[in-house]
Amino acid sequence: MSTLVEQSVLPNYIGGRTHESVSTRLLPVTAPGTGEIITEVPMSTRADLDAAVESAAAAQKEWAAMPMKDRVQVLYRFKALIERDEDRLCEVVTLENGKTISESRGSVLRAIECVEFAASLPQIAPGLVMEVSQGVQCRTSRLPLGVVAGITPFNFPFMVPLWMVPMAIALGNAFVLKPSEQTPLSAMEIARLLEEAGLPDGIFSVVHGDREIVEGMCDHPGIGAIGFVGSTRVARLVYERGAAHGKRVRAMGGAKNHLIVVPDADPEMTASNVTASVTGCAGQRCMAASVLVAVGDCQHIIDRIKDHMAALEGGRDIGAIISEVAYDRITGYLERAESGGAQLILDGRNRVSGDAPTGGRYLGASIIDHAQPDHEASCTEIFGPTLTIIRCRTLDEAIAIENANPYGNAAAIYTSSGGTAQRFADHASAGMIGINIGVPVPREPFAFGGWNDSAFGGGDITGPTAIDFWTRMKKVTTKWNPSGTANWMS
Ligand code: NAD
Repeated sequence: MSTLVEQSVLPNYIGGRTHESVSTRLLPVTAPGTGEIITEVPMSTRADLDAAVESAAAAQKEWAAMPMKDRVQVLYRFKALIERDEDRLCEVVTLENGKTISESRGSVLRAIECVEFAASLPQIAPGLVMEVSQGVQCRTSRLPLGVVAGITPFNFPFMVPLWMVPMAIALGNAFVLKPSEQTPLSAMEIARLLEEAGLPDGIFSVVHGDREIVEGMCDHPGIGAIGFVGSTRVARLVYERGAAHGKRVRAMGGAKNHLIVVPDADPEMTASNVTASVTGCAGQRCMAASVLVAVGDCQHIIDRIKDHMAALEGGRDIGAIISEVAYDRITGYLERAESGGAQLILDGRNRVSGDAPTGGRYLGASIIDHAQPDHEASCTEIFGPTLTIIRCRTLDEAIAIENANPYGNAAAIYTSSGGTAQRFADHASAGMIGINIGVPVPREPFAFGGWNDSAFGGGDITGPTAIDFWTRMKKVTTKWNPSGTANWMS
């Protein structure tokens, strides 16, 4: 067992302490990098969820009664503790997810930025007050929803929960997290550090599990809102089921990000940037480049992209694939790559380092060239280090191809022309647009969130619209001048 994990079965975290699940259904947690079983995680039951919601509800009222400026003091301390334990947190993320240590570090630093944004909420999220008529004042106050929940995916086990938790608790809610059953360790690190930072018991809980807990959260009358991040299939299910139970749901789904390349793009910059976007985190990012649409004669750029991608080896430069199932799914696309006239010009199955740990699942980078827009590799989320190239003649054709894909997380263009870049930015159908940048993650305070089948429920998962999502507004209209002039309002 890794020295980073003490328990052979992970507990839940409820009411400010570890809490054994009543479930006997356990799943092994495997380190993707080595194949080693690290621990087991319980598939908790609705009784576990009830216990978490009950303790959260009991603690939330007192928490909500504190001024926001006092609540966020916990987040300042939490940030300092993340910085203190940064190396350990990176090791935990790498252990459970398989990404490289530098990728884990990037995710921890990005998580810190989300904590900073939440700590700044007293400066940017106060209520409004205005005299709307003589002697009549309207005032708004932002109030928490009560107990809220988050459901998160395997690919960023520390960062994605922290898109939601700091904001939701800063705004006065109590938060119940169900992390991915494939990567449950980082959630326990978050619990440990929030506890040390002085968060009152019950304001943050972790309930491990799978579908049963997700459905339980959607149905639970004690939960007011759900933030979900994961695949489109499950995002839609959670959105529909939660909404059917009268909840707010903001559900971020999968992606199929298109990068457009035109002949005037800088070849070297484009090649290294596209490669980083395709292969970073082994392609297991909702912001990863997936389809490259080459406009006109871009062969000189494609050759360079191929050179860059061919120089990488799985297990040396590219981290691990999360599971056997995911590995089989990705290699299945490679097996079927050459259907419909497409060509597999780079096969990542042959590009795994001889030094890669034997028990891990690794792939090098792959390129499927000359694919048609209706090829399965052009349409479906592969979620591995694979780039599909579609060739077309004009920018308008490229924009039409991008627009026709049902997702809308990110899209990017590589060009040295401001006009071409602007035209693409205006017409691409995605929430996050890159100009000469293949992973266009908007840093805080710019919000993270896609469009179309990449997001359900409206708004973004971080940033200003998330402030609205985790709160409700009370509007108070006041008149304290009984002898004042009467008008239509009084
Ligand atoms: P997933 O949808 O399989 O799992 C996400 C969560 O849903 C997990 O906690 C899981 O336990 C739960 N879940 C899985 N199947 C379920 C079911 N049938 N019913 C109820 N709950 C279920 O996603 P994943 O494989 O963990 O993560 C990868 C996916 O997440 C990719 O599609 C990726 O694009 C997406 N993602 C999106 C964003 C974004 O911001 N749009 C960010 C990160 C990841």
